[in-house]
Amino acid sequence: MNKLFISNWKMNLAVTESIDFSNEISRTINENIIKDNIEIIICPPFISIPYCFQILKSVAKIGAQDISKMNEIKGAYTGEISAKMISDYADYVIIGHSERRTNLKETNQDVSLKGINILKNNMTPILCIGETEEQRKTGEHISILIDQLNESSEGLENKMIVAYEPIWAIGSGNSCNIEQIIEVSSEVKALCGNGTPFIYGGSVNEDNCKELLYQKEIDGVLVGSASLNLNSFNKMISSMNGD
Ligand code: PEP
Repeated sequence: MNKLFISNWKMNLAVTESIDFSNEISRTINENIIKDNIEIIICPPFISIPYCFQILKSVAKIGAQDISKMNEIKGAYTGEISAKMISDYADYVIIGHSERRTNLKETNQDVSLKGINILKNNMTPILCIGETEEQRKTGEHISILIDQLNESSEGLENKMIVAYEPIWAIGSGNSCNIEQIIEVSSEVKALCGNGTPFIYGGSVNEDNCKELLYQKEIDGVLVGSASLNLNSFNKMISSMNGD
């Protein structure tokens, strides 16, 4: 199974900045000798996707950060973007990110509807699950994660990537330790099967990326802020080559 390196830009970089950064990324990837067993996926804001796609298509895949849950490919849904619309550019779509679950009150059912639309349009959902600090402290994290995964993946027939992103680890500089991640990986693989890629996200950076990717139980990483810094991006990509 390829190791995945997924860069989530969130609501960062205006179009001109996205173009400049994509050009830098393309140069960085070309300068690194990337082995064939890795896949780099860049997830820009919607508005920049067509530009980034053109610049990055020979070196990376594109992921969208979200998609409409509406069932139709077009229609009277102001502000929405359908999976069909984005499928000309993207191979992946992030769904169920905790920032959307918290800030926009997205439910497991919303996430599952989005996932079904993504699969119908021949893309792969990157389904995020994660517990709060409190839930981990009380030891209920595994049952919370499994419930979230079961409900959010309804109708997806395990054709997704599962991204374990503890809410307390995202953007905190406080990554989950390897044993904690492996515990969740085992539970996810037991539920979804070994063929379902399991990746980790939450304060991944140039210092911990290599160790995470080295683990056989972890099929890749989802990186937010550290992937927006070209120097860190470069170091993380190099670490995938074993440097
Ligand atoms: C994320 O939000 O998907 C994420 C992994 O963020 P960060 O790397 O900044 O913790």
